Amino acid sequence: MADNHTKEQRSYNMSRICSKNNAPEEKVRKFLFSKGFRYRKNDKKLPGCPDIVLPKYKTVIFVNGCFWHKHNCKRFVWPSSNEEYWKKKILRNVERDELNIKGLKEPGWKVLVVWECELKKVAIDKRLETLVDEIRT
Ligand SMILES: [Zn+2]
Repeated sequence: MADNHTKEQRSYNMSRICSKNNAPEEKVRKFLFSKGFRYRKNDKKLPGCPDIVLPKYKTVIFVNGCFWHKHNCKRFVWPSSNEEYWKKKILRNVERDELNIKGLKEPGWKVLVVWECELKKVAIDKRLETLVDEIRT
């Protein structure tokens, strides 16, 4: 496949808030489905277009990439080139995340975040169990 995107377009596509389904999101969805949870995907009517919406529990779940959303973990490192560009971009994402979470919490949604690093093989089982507790409490 020819890649006609400029570098900037490409990174924009990768960081789009309402991105297409990707592997980490699908892992979480599959698990929840197997536990009997029913959800909506990528609800554009809600702030930030949450990846998973559980209306019955008035809960939304974001599955966040550690880099794009600046997780406080080993996976997040500032790129060593184009520093200004990345700083602006990532901090804008973080700011937008905060606004979206506020906009969801105000009308009473519970907002849960699952980070990409929590879905690594060694961590995923425990994280998904905890997630179920978080949804139910
Ligand atoms: Zn992380």
